[in-house]
Amino acid sequence: MRDPGSPPPVSPPCDPPPCDPPRPLPCPTRCPGIRVHRRSRVVARGHRARGQAWHGQVPAGAGGSAGTCGIGCGLGGPRCVDAGCGRGGLGVRPRGAGAVVPTRGCRRCHIVVPAVPNRSASRPKSECSRPKSGWPAQRDRDGPPSPLPTLIRKKRDGERLEDAEIRVSCAASPRALAQGRGQIGAMLMAIRLRGRDAGETLALTRAMATSGRALAWPPAWHGLVVDKHSNGGACGDKVSLALAPALAACGCKVPMISGRGLGHTGGTLDKLEAIPGFRVSLSPEEMCSALERAGCCIVGQSEELAPADRVLYGLRDVTATVDSVPLITASILSKKAAEQLSALVLDVKFGGAALYPTQDSARELARSLVEVGTQLGIRTVAVLSRMDQPLGRAVGNALEVLEALECLDGGGPPDLRQLVTALGGVLLWQCGKVAGAAQGRELLGRALDDGSARRTFEAMLGAQGVPPDTAQRLCSGTPAQRRRLLGTAKVCEELPALQDGWVQEVRALPLAQVLHGLGAGRARAGDPVDPLVGAELLVGAGQHLRAGEPWLRVHHEGTLGAGGRRALQDALCLGPEPPRDPPPLVAETVVPAGAPPAPQ
Ligand code: URA
Repeated sequence: MRDPGSPPPVSPPCDPPPCDPPRPLPCPTRCPGIRVHRRSRVVARGHRARGQAWHGQVPAGAGGSAGTCGIGCGLGGPRCVDAGCGRGGLGVRPRGAGAVVPTRGCRRCHIVVPAVPNRSASRPKSECSRPKSGWPAQRDRDGPPSPLPTLIRKKRDGERLEDAEIRVSCAASPRALAQGRGQIGAMLMAIRLRGRDAGETLALTRAMATSGRALAWPPAWHGLVVDKHSNGGACGDKVSLALAPALAACGCKVPMISGRGLGHTGGTLDKLEAIPGFRVSLSPEEMCSALERAGCCIVGQSEELAPADRVLYGLRDVTATVDSVPLITASILSKKAAEQLSALVLDVKFGGAALYPTQDSARELARSLVEVGTQLGIRTVAVLSRMDQPLGRAVGNALEVLEALECLDGGGPPDLRQLVTALGGVLLWQCGKVAGAAQGRELLGRALDDGSARRTFEAMLGAQGVPPDTAQRLCSGTPAQRRRLLGTAKVCEELPALQDGWVQEVRALPLAQVLHGLGAGRARAGDPVDPLVGAELLVGAGQHLRAGEPWLRVHHEGTLGAGGRRALQDALCLGPEPPRDPPPLVAETVVPAGAPPAPQ
């Protein structure tokens, strides 16, 4: 019997353990970081380019040719060659020579590396060698896989795909992808319709995770590197802004990789960009130094991390396959695996304003994420939380920063604090800092109350480009000073209740839709958002309102029309009686199959 206080079990990590030694920085001209190896007969000469990548010269006969860099970095001089770079398993194609160097795979991690003469003499066959860059290979130790149409047919007819087949069919090289968008799209649809078992999803996740660079952390942080992922609350989810610094204040390292909102209102990065000077793009080295300095950072996904996900996500978007549970699982976890996390908590939202309308549908995704995350060697737990009403009282990027600061002051709306401490409490338990989630919640609560989480947030702002005096004024100022610093919208308009009644709920979805129309969110990736557009709820469920009393304050640029006002009024649900006790915000915690429930 497991000690009830110990963190949940995880499957043994990759053997040999974590396959990713820190990699050199990529060449600034986008040539991936490639080392030159010395071999018994083939002695390669290299030079270190500005970005620390080695560019080497391979003598004739080693499968290379003199000339410009074969990878196309344009630096000129000798072409890049690396025995372990795994350039898409297409082999290293010497420019102009037309020949393809054959590939072979690592026996442990099944990643394919190009075979280079005499390589076996200098490197044991079993050595774990993830590609340092590029894309998963198209060949495997089991021989060349079947061509794509055969694999598509196999999946279409409901058969299981082998690991090598999955790597070929869903994480192909950019070149293969360019030629085979239709085929990959067909495979995605076959997966969407036929599903995937956990083994297949794991194989896809690994293939995507190893399609780019992995982050690496100092050994002293072992067991402490944690992250949280939310599957997109439509309305008012500013949890990350308070959670990352609160966890760091409790001794965790939090390299949080977040997204921009494509839903109704902005994502975490949009909220943070409401703060003057905040930089969401940090290199892996800058992330490491932010973690050393502040213990946390919140950044966007770099181009180098799981690039296959970006390509596949784009294809999912245009093939109506975004909502496939195995594909969502692989997409989310490939980035988390490349982040080299020790523990991960997933906030899977369900309800009227969430992607998943019901708890059952959210549980299906949560189970898939927990199972595959655990098999990746990450301690993974999912929390199912309700998203029918906005989280907290503020919606809109700048307003949500202000509310997150209130939470970091030890105040703010109770539901926000509850979710922050619930998710953080689980993570502190997962990484062994406390014996149970309840103790974790307590510890998090203390970090919010004693100012240490807010000071950590200030340090994080400094590490991410905010001038020190701005960070200091934002974190230590009065609410009015903070508001002035972030700016205010042109119009601040209060909506009155149209009749008497008890507030049953304020529906998040119509509120978010109107704010989206006013500019708080974006319709397409790359669209700008207006950080100052938003709304503040002036009432909560269980409160009584008289006709004419204000219930919502809307911040906009003079663009709210009669239709918008009507839609907002529809979000307010009034009844003749006080509402019954609301269901709990956190509905369920999903732990790995076979593990006991998280100790409370
Ligand atoms: N977030 C991701 O990163 N990928 C998905 O597919 C869904 C949410």
